[in-house]
Amino acid sequence: MPYTGGFASTHPMPESDRSRRLFLLSSAALLGGCASSKSGSVVALPDLVWGTGPTSPRTETVRPARPDPVPSGVIPRSQWAKGDPIPSRMNRMRPIRRITVHHDGMSAFTQTSSRDAAIRLETIRRSHLRRSPQPFGDIGYHFAVDPSGRVWQCRPLQWQGAHVARQNDGNLGIVLLGNYDKQRPNSAQQSALVAFIDSQMKRYRIGASQVLTHQEMAATACPGRNLQAFMTSARRGPLA
Ligand SMILES: [Zn+2]
Repeated sequence: MPYTGGFASTHPMPESDRSRRLFLLSSAALLGGCASSKSGSVVALPDLVWGTGPTSPRTETVRPARPDPVPSGVIPRSQWAKGDPIPSRMNRMRPIRRITVHHDGMSAFTQTSSRDAAIRLETIRRSHLRRSPQPFGDIGYHFAVDPSGRVWQCRPLQWQGAHVARQNDGNLGIVLLGNYDKQRPNSAQQSALVAFIDSQMKRYRIGASQVLTHQEMAATACPGRNLQAFMTSARRGPLA
């Protein structure tokens, strides 16, 4: 396990703390969920942990060679994000060989409107852009699934994600909005998640052994015990 700092304690946050610190949750502590779960040892980590750093090119060479198509049925990033990705903070995606599932690790989230999901995504995006000392170039995940089973495009796939410390290379990140220590993935989410993962497995020729959860790659509670249990089951069933 290459990295142990901060993960386990930052994903779940007690509800009492959450309500009291709601404001903070929208900033630094927010993605104590997935992305900032490395707090505490960040100074010891090399820059490339999150796929950015001094070696990141800052010229036009960083630009992707071709636009990334939004998969069929996926809501484009333009429908929710209130800002563009910052290429100088990101690396180009390498060939996709792995999928990692997360939860956002904030409060439970059961709202079913697209507006509420868009707001939640934008909150996450902003928190990722504000990370210190290494702000992300965009929301760290590539796709999100909301409580109605909608799939949302997040960071365009031509950019490497920022969702698993040191293991973002070729790793497609999917987040379920909500906290799956506190809620269970509903049937709409289950169906949507399995269908979307299956489509990406076929598209990138990824086997079930390379469909992982965050806690299977690092010391973290993400994606919450209920989503973890669902993924374990799904890999034995529909994703096998
Ligand atoms: Zn995670």
